[in-house]
Formats: sequence, C-alpha cells, structure tokens
Amino acid sequence: MEKRAQLYAGKAKSVYETDDHDLLVMHFRDDTSAFDGKKVEKLDRKGMVNNKFNAFIMEKLVAAGIPCHFVKRLNDTDSLVKRLDMIPVECVVRNLSSGSLVRRLGIEEGLELNPPTFELFLKNDAMGDPMINESYVATFGWADPEQLARAKELTFKVNEVLKKLFLDAGILLVDYKLEFGVFKGEVVLGDEFSPDGCRLWDAETREKLDKDRFRQGLGSVIESYEAVGQRLGIDFNA
Ligand code: 5GP
Repeated sequence: MEKRAQLYAGKAKSVYETDDHDLLVMHFRDDTSAFDGKKVEKLDRKGMVNNKFNAFIMEKLVAAGIPCHFVKRLNDTDSLVKRLDMIPVECVVRNLSSGSLVRRLGIEEGLELNPPTFELFLKNDAMGDPMINESYVATFGWADPEQLARAKELTFKVNEVLKKLFLDAGILLVDYKLEFGVFKGEVVLGDEFSPDGCRLWDAETREKLDKDRFRQGLGSVIESYEAVGQRLGIDFNA
C-alpha cells in the first residue's frame, strides 16, 4: 500500500492518503498532548506502543462484531484504516467516576457508576471540547438521530467487550472516549483505542495506568502503557 500525501495531522497522529481512495494510513507519532493541546511532549516509543496497543484492541472489537475503521497494522507506527466521513462528536462512557465528571458534579473519584454514564462532547479544541447533548447534535446537524443512536449503541457494546478484557488482566476500565464516522452508509468506530483515550486503573491498588500519568505529571507514562499491554498479552517486540 503506497503512502501518499499527508491529509491531516492531529495532536498525536498523522493521516496519509494511499493509492486506494477508500483507505488511509494512520501514523502514530511520539507526540503526547493534554488539556486540548496546551501540554505537549514527545515520549520515546509512544507511537510504536500505541499503534500495537490499538491494533490488538481493534482486532478484539472486530472479532466481537463491532464495525471499525481499522484494517491492519502495517509496521511499528502505521496502520491501514478506512476513510470515514467523521461525526465531530466524542462519545464517553464511564464505569467509575473520574476526570471531568468529578469536577462537574463535585463528587468523589472512584465511585461505581451503575448504570455507566454516557456523555457527548463536541470535538472542538478551541472551545475546549464542550459538553453537548442529543438535541444539539440534531439541531446543528452533526449527525442524524439514527447515526447518533448507533454510535451510542456501539460505544456501550465496546464497554461490554473491553471491561471484561481488561478485568481479566486485573485492570479496571474507568472510562473512555470514542469517535465515529460513516463508511459507505454505515456508522463505524473511527478512533484509536489506547491508554491515551481511556482511563485504566490497577484493580487491586487503583494505580493510574493511563494518560492521567502524563496529565498529572506522575511519570513512567510509556512504561505504564507497555505494562498494561503486556498484561493483556501484547508482544511489543513483534
Ligand atoms: P474527561 O471528560 O473525564 O476528561 O474524559 C473522559 C475520558 O475520555 C477519559 O478517558 C479521557 O482520556 C477521554 N477523552 C476525553 N476527551 C479526549 C480527547 O480530546 N482526546 C483523547 N485522546 N481522549 C479524551
């Protein structure tokens, strides 16, 4: 698959065209950002670790029947994905209270959320990804109601698959963010899944193993991502 012109550069990934109009190469860089791009650092090996982590998770989701943009991993830092028409909305599911939920409601961190919550945010760094709702999505035409309903259904289906996958490795899936797009009329998961976009705590000690280590300056960020991957059975040397 020939990698052609760069189509888009995000905060941690760059996307390239290929000789097939329907397929893109997603390149994972070592850049790490937080607080809507206000804190940025390069972390050695991050691109490789997240690319392999993501490929492992995507294969599990595809096996569980969740439509994903992921096609295959190409090398250490590149994966082949389908070109989607992206819905500019972030879907967040939370199993335990943390992050912005704790700040918004003034509640304790680590409360079990039963049933898990579902939230929508507009993907807009300049506005700090404001919280929105289904009515906003319809009024501003960010997605059709059926597309949004499908994105919500798939976000919860991901929870069923991944909560168990992580728990079997002694890890709590606290929360995560997913984005969706449309490919040939079908709503498809169009996001990476790595410790950059979710919260993962050790089930015994509740140690933070995800990007909160970077956000909160706790250190050993990539070492921690790799340790999570190894607990799931990922071989980062393969
Ligand atoms: P919170 O709303 O608590 O900041 O985030 C909820 C979950 O969504 C966390 O797992 C967080 O990592 C993820 N998340 C929220 N916004 C973004 C974003 O813009 N980029 C990434 N990579 N993850 C996000």
